[in-house]
Amino acid sequence: MNSDIIERSNRVFTPAFHFYHKIAIEKGVGCSVTDVEGKSYLDCASGLGALNIGHNHPRVMAAVTRQLPLFGHTGGIYYNETTVAAAELLTSITPPGLDRLFFSNSGAEAVEGAIKLARYVTGRQGIIAFGGAFHGRTLGALSLTSSNARYRERYAPLLPSIYHAPYPVCRHCPFGCPAEGCDLGCLAYLEEMLRRYVSPQEVAAIIIEPVLGEGGYVPAPARFLNGLRRLCDQHGILLIFDEVQSGMGRCGEWFAAQLYGVTPDILTVAKGIASGFPLSAVVSRGELMDQWPTWAHGTTFGGNPVSCAAAIATIEAIREDGLLARCRELGSATLDRLRAFQAHHPLVGDVRGRGLMIGVELTGADGTPDGTACGKVLEACLQQGLIVINCGPERNIIRLIPPLTISAAELGQALDILERAIDAAGKG
Ligand code: PLP
Repeated sequence: MNSDIIERSNRVFTPAFHFYHKIAIEKGVGCSVTDVEGKSYLDCASGLGALNIGHNHPRVMAAVTRQLPLFGHTGGIYYNETTVAAAELLTSITPPGLDRLFFSNSGAEAVEGAIKLARYVTGRQGIIAFGGAFHGRTLGALSLTSSNARYRERYAPLLPSIYHAPYPVCRHCPFGCPAEGCDLGCLAYLEEMLRRYVSPQEVAAIIIEPVLGEGGYVPAPARFLNGLRRLCDQHGILLIFDEVQSGMGRCGEWFAAQLYGVTPDILTVAKGIASGFPLSAVVSRGELMDQWPTWAHGTTFGGNPVSCAAAIATIEAIREDGLLARCRELGSATLDRLRAFQAHHPLVGDVRGRGLMIGVELTGADGTPDGTACGKVLEACLQQGLIVINCGPERNIIRLIPPLTISAAELGQALDILERAIDAAGKG
């Protein structure tokens, strides 16, 4: 029974170890999971965006099964073929010039690595991050995270020399710029920061999610990211793209960096990299990575061969099955359909996204965020067999992140359920 497992979990786990939905699963295949009571669900949360090719993809299962009997861990003691091959393959899909990496286990760990690399090679301390960002929960990454004050509560003092600027959320522009003819107040603000709060020569890096994730599923405007690149070049500041969520094909290119044509100096990769097996990477140029000596960073589990076997299979599946193009196609059809739906549903304030990283913002008649309605929608979806989750500080944005392997029929079914649930919530 779902309830038995949930009760046992409540006894053994701290509430901080938390699961979104009150179901316990027995099996996951492709885009579906089945709970221990035999009910099936379409999984459009993809294990928090980590299952870009779905649950138990046959290629991943085969690769892991081949690796396991050989050895499952190397602990940084000896070299092995699988880990090197995974690194070679990963650097074949990263933006130009980003061809050297450090493997770790989680997104937060990759962000920690990026902060350390940036500070180490520049000899500068300051890091500029953005309001609404989510970069992880470890203390360094948490110092950059600002998607919700609750995540930071009682953990001060966090890292010093961290500065936050507003994320360019055009729909709620913090500078009141009009959508048409915007003069990039967000970029001017950064320039002002570098004049007033922190000298550019004390800033090691600017870190940004090119498509804001947990903070509300907002793609940054291309002009802003280009401007950021120029600003960093002008001052010798390193530009870090945190693509833990937006990367590995999720937005219709391997990385959002390629979608925008803006190349960062440092890239963080995790989530979808190994189809749910723990693996992450900090990727940068050889010229920077060569300045990060042995002992300056390290890991026991990073580059685990089983995870690396899964990563190789994941990249090959995305490449050979044409999943980037498929992601763009399905993503644009989904945006079209949801925007048409929005036209008749006042509860839907905005529909946005890139590829299959889509946010549906629910708002009241006066445009204020409606997290209560969003909670009802998630619950109604679950009842009808669809798993979706929410995000944003007011928890009013539904995030649709199905596997890129989802069939058109499954996606249609998921959208039918979602629209019915929004309809019902709109009627009170
Ligand atoms: N960075 C981004 C953009 C994320 O979305 C997340 C997790 O959602 C993280 C970092 C942290 O990753 P992890 O939970 O694997 O530590």
